[in-house]
Amino acid sequence: MSNTGVADNILDVEKIRKDFPILTQSVRGKPLIYLDNAATTHKPNAVIERVRKFDAEEYGTVRRGAYKLSETATQLYEEARQKVADFMGAEKKGEIVFTSGTTQSINLVAHSFGKRFINEGDEIIISNIEHHANTVPWQVLCEDRGARLKVIPVNDDGELVMEEYEKLLSPKTRMVAINHVSNALGTINPIKEITEKAHAVGAKVLVDGAQSTPHMKVNVQDIDCDFYTFSGHKMYGPSGIGGVYGKMDLWEEMPPYVTGGDMIMQVTLEKSTYAKPPARFEAGTPPITQVIGLGAAIDYLDEIGLDKIADYENSLLEYGTRLFKEIDGVRIIGNARHKASIISFYIDAAHPHDVVTLLDQDGIACRGGHHCAQPTMIRYGVPATTRASMAFYNKPEELDALAESVKKCIRFFS
Ligand code: PMP
Repeated sequence: MSNTGVADNILDVEKIRKDFPILTQSVRGKPLIYLDNAATTHKPNAVIERVRKFDAEEYGTVRRGAYKLSETATQLYEEARQKVADFMGAEKKGEIVFTSGTTQSINLVAHSFGKRFINEGDEIIISNIEHHANTVPWQVLCEDRGARLKVIPVNDDGELVMEEYEKLLSPKTRMVAINHVSNALGTINPIKEITEKAHAVGAKVLVDGAQSTPHMKVNVQDIDCDFYTFSGHKMYGPSGIGGVYGKMDLWEEMPPYVTGGDMIMQVTLEKSTYAKPPARFEAGTPPITQVIGLGAAIDYLDEIGLDKIADYENSLLEYGTRLFKEIDGVRIIGNARHKASIISFYIDAAHPHDVVTLLDQDGIACRGGHHCAQPTMIRYGVPATTRASMAFYNKPEELDALAESVKKCIRFFS
C-alpha cells in the first residue's frame, strides 16, 4: 500500500502504462494525464498491433468469398464473436449481434423489439440517470406506438429509488431499460434485482453496459437480463464497433432493423425472407478490422483480469473521493454507495467548460459538460459537471495533480 492508500499490489500500473503508447506524450509541456476514460479509452499495443497485422496480412471480406483470405477473415470475425460471448457470459455466440456501439444497439432493440412487442397503452421504464442513448430511442418508440414512458427517480446521492421503481411496474410494463453504470455519476445500479422485479410482471430488460463492461466482470446469464449493450471504444478497443447480447428466443422473434445484403435468406422481386440471428441484424459489410481489434482488446482485459481491474479502480476512486472532499468549494455530484471510478463535481465559481479549459493547461484531460445526460443535470440543479473518469492505467499521483489543478482553478475564478 502506498502512502496514498491506493493498493499497489493489485496491478503493476507502471508496466501496464508501457502498453499504451499514447500515455507517454506531453500536452502543453506537461505529461498527459488522461482522465476521460468514460468518454473513450486508449488502446494497448496488443490492439494496435493486432489491427495492423490483420490489415497488412489477413484482411478480406467476411461471410462471402470462397477464397483463402475471406475464409480466414470470416473465421477470425466469428472467433471474435465467441470472445465477446465468453467475456459477457452468454450461453451461445449467436446471441451477440455486432453494431457500431451502444447507441446503435439500443436503437436496434427499440425499433425491432418495439415493432414486434410494443402496442398502444404499453409502458416502458427508464431512469432519471440514463445517457441520451438510453432515453431518446424509447421516447421516439413511445411516440410512434402510443406507449408511455415512465421514469425511476433517484435520491440525492444518485441512487435509484427502488420502492418507486416497484410502484411503476405493472402488467402493462413491456420493457425496463437501465444502465448498469451511470456515465454522469458513476452509480452502479442493482440490475439483477431490477431484472428480477421486471420479469415478475412479464417485462423484458435491456441493460446499457457502455460503462460497466470496461470496469467489472459481467455475466448476462447471472443477471438474467434480456439485452445487454457494449461499446468497443470504451473497452480499450477500436471505435465504430460494439454490440448487444440478446436472448436467442427473443432475437428469433424480432424483425430486422437495417435491411439489405447479408441479412437475407432469399430475395425475389416480390418478397424477401430473412436470415437467422445474428446475421438478420448485421446487414451490409461489417466493420471487420474493428471486430478483430475488439477481440484483441478482450484478450488483453482477460489477461489482466476484470476482478483485479475493478479492485484497483475502486481503490483509485476512494483516494480521489477523499482528495476532493477536502477541497473547499467542490461539490461531488453522485455519492452512491456503489460506484464505478467516476468523480463528477461542480465548482460554484466556474462553469465546467472553463474548468476543463484550465485543467488542459496542466495537461489534464477531463470532460466538462452534461455528459449526454441532461435529465440528470436537471435533477441535480447543475448545468453541467466536470468529470474525472479513471482507468486501470491511471495512478494516484495523477489524482494529486488533478486536485492541485482544481484548487488553482478555484483560486483563479474566486
Ligand atoms: N450509454 C452510456 C452509459 C454511455 O456512457 C455512452 C457513451 N458515453 C453511451 C450509452 C453511448 O455509447 P456510444 O457513444 O459508444 O454509442
